[in-house]
Amino acid sequence: MENVLVEDVLHRFVLERAGVRGVLVRLGAAWREVAERSEYPAPLRELLGQSLAASALLTGNIKLEGALSIELKSSGALRLLFTECTDQGRLRGLARWSDPLPEPLDLSTLPGAVMAITIGHAERGQRYQGLVELGQPDLAGSLENYFRLSEQLPARLLLAADGEHAVGLMLQKLPGEGGHSAVDDEDAWNRVLHLTATLGREEMLAATPEELLYRLYHDETVRLFEPRPLAFGCSCSRERVESMLRSLGRDEVEAALAARDGEIEVICEFCAQRYTFDRIDAEHVLSGGVSADTPTTEQ
Ligand SMILES: [Zn+2]
Repeated sequence: MENVLVEDVLHRFVLERAGVRGVLVRLGAAWREVAERSEYPAPLRELLGQSLAASALLTGNIKLEGALSIELKSSGALRLLFTECTDQGRLRGLARWSDPLPEPLDLSTLPGAVMAITIGHAERGQRYQGLVELGQPDLAGSLENYFRLSEQLPARLLLAADGEHAVGLMLQKLPGEGGHSAVDDEDAWNRVLHLTATLGREEMLAATPEELLYRLYHDETVRLFEPRPLAFGCSCSRERVESMLRSLGRDEVEAALAARDGEIEVICEFCAQRYTFDRIDAEHVLSGGVSADTPTTEQ
């Protein structure tokens, strides 16, 4: 296990003897960019970090084009939580809430809560969306249910986050292959789950990927694939803000211009990028100026 990147990285691995594949994500600076964007209460910050790590984890074993996002909405104090990982390994996320947040932040008791996983290109309309049943108090348990229902492959997820790091570990039992009896497979899966269950939150947050994999699976045969670097990144652009303004319509845009001395300012909530439009810009946008970002038509 040489050249194991330590932070902002996704590692895929296979426990060959056990027939289990895994993904390990450890976020440092990429997570802190997201965490420090707002004064998140500690339980919400932890959930946001877990979700950010999970959105990267879930890209580990799929062929992703576009982005994978996890979005939670509820009618309670936690109004919105959104995290995203693109096919380029760019991560972003945010949450909106009102105080007081319930403690503990139990996902199964949020009023009117809906969680969705969306995969693909939002602008091109090429998207797959799956709903996650929120029958478990925590995100990891809810995502395990999602895998059970959608992929019919057992999965185990561990997620942890504090102000410095966000870490996720996902294990999936590989489909049975020739030469193994179902009983052997079941034993191997249970052995791996047993090893994994010995990992505590603090250790998970402190250990480098190499330390963590060695600590858990040194008696297994671990095959590591090429690591994928991850980083904070936002997909906002002036063109996207323009199309948002167009969708608001002339009346709203005129009202915003009038209210702000003839200038509209839009600040991206993910990355704090500032976009400004004066009357001339706004007129250009409203008259349907063609932007460079217009999606190309795909079959
Ligand atoms: Zn942005």
